[in-house]
Amino acid sequence: MSDIEFRGVTKVFRAPGGSGRIRAVDNLNLTIREGESVALVGESGSGKSTIARMLVRLETPTEGTITFNGRSIHRMPDLSRRIQMVMQDPFSSFNPMHTISYSLRRPLEIRKDVDKEDIPRRVAETLRQVGLVPPESFLEKRANQLSGGQRQRANIARALLLEPEVLVADEPTSMLDVSVGIGVLNVLLDLREKRQGVEGSIGIKEVDIKNTRMSYLFITHNLAAARYIADRMVVLYRGQVVEEGLVDDVIHHPLHPYTRMLIAATPDADKPLQLDATLDVESGASYQGCKFASRCPFRQEECSSEIQYKKVENQMVRCVLY
Ligand code: ADP
Ligand code: MG
Repeated sequence: MSDIEFRGVTKVFRAPGGSGRIRAVDNLNLTIREGESVALVGESGSGKSTIARMLVRLETPTEGTITFNGRSIHRMPDLSRRIQMVMQDPFSSFNPMHTISYSLRRPLEIRKDVDKEDIPRRVAETLRQVGLVPPESFLEKRANQLSGGQRQRANIARALLLEPEVLVADEPTSMLDVSVGIGVLNVLLDLREKRQGVEGSIGIKEVDIKNTRMSYLFITHNLAAARYIADRMVVLYRGQVVEEGLVDDVIHHPLHPYTRMLIAATPDADKPLQLDATLDVESGASYQGCKFASRCPFRQEECSSEIQYKKVENQMVRCVLY
């Protein structure tokens, strides 16, 4: 099983300037099953990007382990091919000096296991998959000659070229106009469907993947987008998972007061979740009680003691109300 598992993962940063510490991710347990699409939602600053960056090894956990297929990701030389990330900002992600063709060919050219003769065909086919058609009209352009939506599609194409098993997309549409963002979401949705059950469609030589359905870790502050793309939703509050379940269950039947607040605040808007600008200063220390208690309308005494993560029907929730 090519599951990804975060077990007890904590990331503590040194606060910029000062001597303080920020516990950006706090004892995180998270599983992404093979072929599953998981949406990670939470306000700005809740630790979403840090989780994504640890998964692609741009950050190292302070504590805990991340495994892929049962092996530590820190002992996988081919991880950078198997897990690819699409960043939030389509504008800074391409070298403006290079053509799209060069930027897409390059990661393939430097690999020993890729048939060099086949690269132009693969690049063209991948551009087609992300809706940049006809590919010839994009190949010799530079990133600044593309629109934001086209650039984000090119970005997705670059991530796909190495045929990853996992695609991490960190707010891939948040810097795009809504309608353009919907186009990009459609590409992501379409890719999963096309790849489902298809054997090595654009074949890397050593296809060792039986089920070629990609897993997604889709990071968003947009619940409508989460619902569109994901099977399961994980709600993060200050580095901790407070609730998870099937997307429709969580949206129609939110359990945690924080999830309820998120849903009430964003009926279908594309606004970043920024419910409260007056979050108290984050501390680097661990805290066993509920971090949401200070904002919670249902706050009780027990909220400051250790809170179990419990199964309630088909969902999991960390709250004393259950
Ligand atoms: P999100 O993606 O949910 O907005 P982030 O993972 O970017 O959240 O950030 C979580 C917290 O960690 C924030 O308080 C942020 O300021 C802090 N943080 C992230 N990266 C760093 C860093 N390199 N150095 C110091 N603090 C950081
Ligand atoms: Mg982020």
